[in-house]
Amino acid sequence: MNHMQSLEISVRLHTDPDSIKKNSKDYGNLGQEIPSAVLRPSSINDIITLITFANNLSTPFTIAARGSGHSVRGQASARGGVVVDMKSLSRINGNKIRVSWNPNTLGFYADVGGEQRWIDILLATLEHGLAPVSWTDYLYLTVGGTLSNGGIGGQCFSHGPQISNVLEMDVITGKGELMTCSKYINFELFYAVLGGLGQFGVITRARIVLEKAPSRAKWVRLIYNDFSKFTKDQEHLISISNGPNYVEGSLITNHSSTNNWRSSFYSPSHQSKIFSLSHNTQGLLYSLELVKYYHHNLYDIDKELGLLLKELNYIPGFMFKKDVSFFDFLSRVGSRGDAQSTEEEQTEAHPWLNLFVPKSRVSDFNTGVLLNIIHRYNLISGPILFYPLIRKKWDDRMSAVTPDEDIFYTLGLLHTSYKSNESEIFDKVNDEIMEFCEKGGIQVKQYLPHYKSRKDWIKHFGPKWGHFQEMKMKFDPKMILSPGQRIFNFEI
Ligand SMILES: Cc1cc2nc3c(=O)[nH]c(=O)nc-3n(C[C@H](O)[C@H](O)[C@H](O)COP(=O)(O)OP(=O)(O)OC[C@H]3O[C@@H](n4cnc5c(N)ncnc54)[C@H](O)[C@@H]3O)c2cc1C
Repeated sequence: MNHMQSLEISVRLHTDPDSIKKNSKDYGNLGQEIPSAVLRPSSINDIITLITFANNLSTPFTIAARGSGHSVRGQASARGGVVVDMKSLSRINGNKIRVSWNPNTLGFYADVGGEQRWIDILLATLEHGLAPVSWTDYLYLTVGGTLSNGGIGGQCFSHGPQISNVLEMDVITGKGELMTCSKYINFELFYAVLGGLGQFGVITRARIVLEKAPSRAKWVRLIYNDFSKFTKDQEHLISISNGPNYVEGSLITNHSSTNNWRSSFYSPSHQSKIFSLSHNTQGLLYSLELVKYYHHNLYDIDKELGLLLKELNYIPGFMFKKDVSFFDFLSRVGSRGDAQSTEEEQTEAHPWLNLFVPKSRVSDFNTGVLLNIIHRYNLISGPILFYPLIRKKWDDRMSAVTPDEDIFYTLGLLHTSYKSNESEIFDKVNDEIMEFCEKGGIQVKQYLPHYKSRKDWIKHFGPKWGHFQEMKMKFDPKMILSPGQRIFNFEI
């Protein structure tokens, strides 16, 4: 990186071993990709300078924006290139979160820096009695990171993913141009960037839809031993008007704990009740999770919730309920720290697999994957999520990819491996699942995708591949950005 010494940003380019080490790994901890330097920008001009400089070289180096580094397969890495530590913008300048209201068209919205974490956006918007409408389960992720993928969670069935709730963005393209884009201006860039895996530009500002925030949440979990009753109830809940505000689901295996890092919902007595049930059950247990928001004393929430639950077919007696503040519900998953910050986390690895499964095949998926592969390997450790999403809440013009059916399920296989070669075993499980789907013709799509060949990427994008490539040629023709996704930089 000697050729960058003359740049005015050179003082913010770090090559010391600590900076390089921190930016070589991510939350997945499944390997390392060593950059040549780390840029800690003090302004978006620093990022423009860096990208423009790379563009002007005959052999440009690669550049990856890094938000919280909570990818699991090196997606925010730049081997031999420069990692841009986006959070340095807020460390230097403070939080960039501005709440506004446009009575005629936009309603309430917040302009937030791409480096901002969702937890900080929640805290800042709640001060105005407002909040974004669509959330990930975990809030210590950055806006740039989740908008590059989708941003999914239990509110997604009614509001769509986070990418469906963006009104406008500022993006520095791979050519170093700062562009404002929306549905109306520079719309090609707007749609390409949303779910675009960091391939087209660095998001420096996003305008996010806000609504009035409720004050409290009734939070319920229901246990099932019958997959078809579980999914039928989930689909019922996401289709009714005035139903819950949040619907997710998860699996309970007889070697997984009912409480885990994702949530400590159950009291010890509830845990032993569920534990004894799971040991008397041959198959798996399924847990449906729903939430109904409410405002203090506005109406009889318990009556309304009771009516909702009456229609469901969970195992009698296996309904567990909590009443928490809206903030406590949304921030239920505590900080997992910066990627690999503690000693314990340095040895943990997270060989996750996230899939979208078309509704028409969930029964086959249950038999082949949940009941067979997952249940058979009794080393599964970590939450296993399974809940439905609605395709029409996604905009097909965006880069994000979903199965081609009105309803699809998301599987989140959030393994943690604790021993050195354990992650390879989890990867074997993941490969077996992908193979099962391939052989059975189940047209799954990976969420937070990680593929091993160009052919797999082409298959992943399907009819969107041609356009995706065209947008790359338009906005990052020298293939500079986010090489760690390994879409266009396969040789790395
Ligand atoms: C504990 C945990 C819980 C999670 N829960 C959920 C969940 O409930 N729902 C969900 O949808 N996802 C979830 N995720 C996945 C998460 O949304 C993605 O991994 C996301 O990319 C992480 O955000 P980040 O800020 O760490 O991004 P990084 O890992 O830093 O970056 C991810 C990608 O985005 C690019 N990028 C980063 N910032 C920008 C920017 N400003 N502009 C353009 N590109 C950028 C990077 O180059 C990289 O390619 C979870 C992950 C973890 C570790």
